[in-house]
Amino acid sequence: MRYRRVLLKISGEALMGAAAYGINIKMVHFVAQEIRAIHEAGIQLALVIGAGNIFRGVAGAAGGMDRSAADSMGMLATVMNSLAMQDGLQKIGVPAQVMSAIAMMNVCEPYERVKAVEHLGQQRVVIFAAGTGNPYFTTDTAAVLRALEIRADVVMKATRVDGVYSDDPEKNPRAVRYRELDYTSVLRDNLQVMDAAGISLARENKLPIFVFNMLEPGNIIKAVRGEDIGTLIGG
Ligand code: UDP
Repeated sequence: MRYRRVLLKISGEALMGAAAYGINIKMVHFVAQEIRAIHEAGIQLALVIGAGNIFRGVAGAAGGMDRSAADSMGMLATVMNSLAMQDGLQKIGVPAQVMSAIAMMNVCEPYERVKAVEHLGQQRVVIFAAGTGNPYFTTDTAAVLRALEIRADVVMKATRVDGVYSDDPEKNPRAVRYRELDYTSVLRDNLQVMDAAGISLARENKLPIFVFNMLEPGNIIKAVRGEDIGTLIGG
């Protein structure tokens, strides 16, 4: 295995499946099964899950809401996704613990870095919910932040395409997948990998980001093994 401690970022949309909105329990089970393979291989795994399947702060703000209030709703939506994933993992015998950046003691643990690392050491999957706990951020940035805090070896960003391409592979058959990219190119060329705040935080701290397609069964474990199935951002 190439990595020992991994932070996996899953977008909210990944949990929708073919639906237009919400949580598709079949998708939750699919992701849980994929994660079980990593867990059984003894890899320490933390998750950050987005909420695009339920609510995005920018959408609320565009509709006339105060951005901070809308972002709070977005963060709460990530807690729902995280609880669904915790349940899906526990159902198949993978110990998992949600830790929320916004305290809600009756529902899950509040985020505490030292406690999170303890959970990981005890082979529990830790699910970081509520993003950074602050408005005007995204769960991509939360993923990089938490990965740095727990000293993860890599952030794995699960997407619907197998890495970063020179052009849209669905429109341009000559588009090529980059095997490796440096942070500065991603920022300069505005490549749609993750938001700029997350990329620059990763660059400042030399944290690698691996972009891959999670919908392909077996890909998560391949990514952890270091197989050439996506794009590695570093340098
Ligand atoms: N959010 C936030 N602060 C954070 C993380 C998330 O305010 O640190 C809010 C924001 O409104 C965002 C929503 O939660 O739109 C859902 O997160 P994101 O858009 O990153 O989800 P994804 O695109 O990964 O599904």
